[in-house]
Amino acid sequence: MRIVHICSEAVPWAKTGGLADVAGALTPYLARNGHQVTLFLPLYRSVGDAGFEPGAPLLELGPAELGLPASAAIRPLEGPSGLQVRLVDAPALFDRDGLYGDSTGDYPDNLLRFAVFCRAALCALEQPPEILHCHDWQTALVPVLLRAGLPPGAGALSGELPASVMTIHNLAYQGRFPAEAWADTGLPENWFRADRLEYYGGINLLKGGMIAADRVTTVSPTYAREIATSEFGFGLEGVIGALPRPVTGILNGIDTDTWNPAADSFLDDSYDVSDRTGKARLKQELLAEFGLEAEPDLPLFGFVSRLVDQKGLPLFEALADRFATWPARFVFLGSGEPRYENLIEKLASDSPTVGSRVTFSERLAHLIEAGSDFFMMPSAFEPCGLNQMISQRYGTIPIVHRVGGLADSVIAATPESIAEGRATGIVFPRYDPEAFGAAIDSALALYDTPADMESVIRAGMVTDFSWDASGRAYEQLYRAIETESNR
Ligand code: ADP
Repeated sequence: MRIVHICSEAVPWAKTGGLADVAGALTPYLARNGHQVTLFLPLYRSVGDAGFEPGAPLLELGPAELGLPASAAIRPLEGPSGLQVRLVDAPALFDRDGLYGDSTGDYPDNLLRFAVFCRAALCALEQPPEILHCHDWQTALVPVLLRAGLPPGAGALSGELPASVMTIHNLAYQGRFPAEAWADTGLPENWFRADRLEYYGGINLLKGGMIAADRVTTVSPTYAREIATSEFGFGLEGVIGALPRPVTGILNGIDTDTWNPAADSFLDDSYDVSDRTGKARLKQELLAEFGLEAEPDLPLFGFVSRLVDQKGLPLFEALADRFATWPARFVFLGSGEPRYENLIEKLASDSPTVGSRVTFSERLAHLIEAGSDFFMMPSAFEPCGLNQMISQRYGTIPIVHRVGGLADSVIAATPESIAEGRATGIVFPRYDPEAFGAAIDSALALYDTPADMESVIRAGMVTDFSWDASGRAYEQLYRAIETESNR
């Protein structure tokens, strides 16, 4: 099939979070399986910083083609497994330090930036694909443009239009802008309506994208159910409930080449399920890296995350006084909201058993995944989450709130599930400090029961979280859409 993905980030070219991991793994997976796959990305500064050199422009687009007062060139890059990457080069919009904003907040022209990105991608399609797969609010205008009217330069699409898939990676981010910015969409006025992009008097890109797309998917079956409720729907549960088809939930995979304890290019050591002496050495390295004492041997808990409410930071805040009292060590890595950056720094300065680093570091993320005994993910909500799967592969037991993709990828440790060799983590049922604190207590008890600890580590390490299952599910979805449109 000819499949085009349009996405605002993908590893190894640009990353702020899990979306980049997903786009960077799903697209080569599809290409490896014989599909003709193109991935559109903005040409951010980070692409050049990471050492990539895009080819000469294939196409130059101006206001007459884009339908907006902007210019962009399309530049090629070879991706892995035959994946064709097309970069939308608009320096005035994308040659910046951040992807979506800087320390002062979101870039004020984000609507225009991503409207130009979507329009440029549509103009650059040489022949109509069978599937146009869009991700999150940044590309939600693509399905809308297929229905509301293509940009003038999208001539290649004049015949039969491709089917569109809109994947929600996190419903908390919807792409909301004030009504006054409508001109930046370049859309006709009649699309600013309650049954289209209008939302409480403003613009909501994701709402429009969901309504216009042929299929809406999200990144785990549990999250697919949750977002139809007021607790997790972020105000869009009504829109989701009214979609002609229920949202499909497909659990993400992880990139098992990048995240492989037996061959991890970020680590000085390696290990596998049968020999974990390398893991024990990496624990020592991790303790040293964070300036924590190695003796006596105590369980080490890791945390790597964007520092935002969603990731359970309020629970750490509420439990702040307890970290010094637990017979354990803790390492925190993250960046994000200043109050939570201060929090993890304060946890470290208040207790000699806690270390923290406020930065984004792939190397440290790998070292924490490998060197910790437990990995904490007390998210309030979690569309899929990757670190709980990565940590299982690294023999690091995840501690998770039973929600979204965490519920779908961690098998709760109970006396029965441990005895049956099925348990892969510690799962707590309620988002509150007591429940999370009790989960940490359970982890300490598990650490003191080596046979049980071993059972949970092993079950996690042998679980298959590769893209094979997820990739196959997307292929099935594409085939179902194709069959339907041929009917
Ligand atoms: P989200 O996409 O909501 O941020 P996910 O769990 O899906 O959460 O993916 C987060 C990804 O970003 C993981 O690969 C995680 O290790 C990585 N990550 C988050 N913060 C940092 C950081 N400070 N340094 C390195 N990697 C990070």
